[in-house]
Amino acid sequence: MQSISPSLERFTSRKLAGLEKRQLRRRLQESNNSAGMQVERDGRTYVNFCSNDYLGLANDPEVIRAAQQAAAKYGAGSGASRLVTGGHHLLFELERRLAALKGSEDCIVFGSGYLANLAIAPALLGAGDLVLVDELAHACIHAGAELSRAEIRKFRHNDLADAREILTAERADYRHAMIMTDGVFSMDGDFAPLPELLALAEEFEAWTLVDDAHAVGVVGEGKGSSAHFSPAAMPPLQMGTLSKALGSYGGYLCASRNVCELLRTRARPLVFTTALPPASIAAALAALDIVERDAERRERPLTLARRFCAAAGLPAPASPIVPVLLGSESRALKASMALQDEGFLVTAIRPPTVPRGTARLRITFSATHVEADIDRLAQCVRVILEETSETA
Ligand SMILES: *Cc1c(COP(=O)(O)O)cnc(C)c1O
Repeated sequence: MQSISPSLERFTSRKLAGLEKRQLRRRLQESNNSAGMQVERDGRTYVNFCSNDYLGLANDPEVIRAAQQAAAKYGAGSGASRLVTGGHHLLFELERRLAALKGSEDCIVFGSGYLANLAIAPALLGAGDLVLVDELAHACIHAGAELSRAEIRKFRHNDLADAREILTAERADYRHAMIMTDGVFSMDGDFAPLPELLALAEEFEAWTLVDDAHAVGVVGEGKGSSAHFSPAAMPPLQMGTLSKALGSYGGYLCASRNVCELLRTRARPLVFTTALPPASIAAALAALDIVERDAERRERPLTLARRFCAAAGLPAPASPIVPVLLGSESRALKASMALQDEGFLVTAIRPPTVPRGTARLRITFSATHVEADIDRLAQCVRVILEETSETA
């Protein structure tokens, strides 16, 4: 029999009731994904427009086969941390491939993108250092900054003048400084101004970390946000995930040999956690093969996003992530339900994932979507926006 603590029950039930009242309670639902961006929920099949599987590689036969073969040959789990006996040869191969893709000296693969961000800042910064974080950067960037024990300053989203002001006023009071940002922002789909940000970092001797979770595989010829710019804007710390466009699971940091070597010794989320299972590593390697050879597939998510925005009357998108801002939590939830009635799955994104007052639909496009669904979704979103502006 499970033991129940009355005070713990009182605390959690009160918390839940409060969240419910503010329409901020989240519920986990069974969602079974299959090829072609189909997702089954409650016995009904929807077209998934909120997946980060931008290239449809999670259900690609070649990627699945690679995972199956690796599991059959090497087992289901890796059995230990990489510093003990979890250092599979496929993992080293994956790191060489990612470093080559990104044009960096070295690369480390982590258990997930979230773990990578919990690892990097705390291994490189400490008390007496300064870290500047874009206010809209992903939650795990903020979490990594907090774990590092450096002083944290948030700068306004993509606002170089604000970042400069902070550095001008405070940089001299600290030993090291780091600027942290998403390359492509996860909830807005816009790019960080990397060339200008890197110039600013250089001027103030700050290290720049760019999170390419939504960029690798889909922008800059699959190389990520740095290659989106011409000439390429190469930050010294480029992290990302294997779990989105690459269709598998895991995270990585591409950086210099010295940075990677230091992290191999010092990064707690690498040292004290079990290495990725062989199937995930093999799947990511197979996905990289496809990304590198199939330009049409890489470009299709953005092509579809453009088609959608044109048809829905929205501004042209920069990436395959299209936010449809609706403001209140209830409006976003209602819009999501309306789309669900039409057979589209687009979850409502609410605070604290996005700032208060900017609840939205976040629509993501994948290479395996079909045009007819894009066009029908655009019509539905058009109707939602018209209704919203009437009641606003
Ligand atoms: C999803 C995401 C992560 C986390 O990556 P996982 O591999 O899913 O843990 C990190 N940063 C950004 C910007 C993300 O969107």
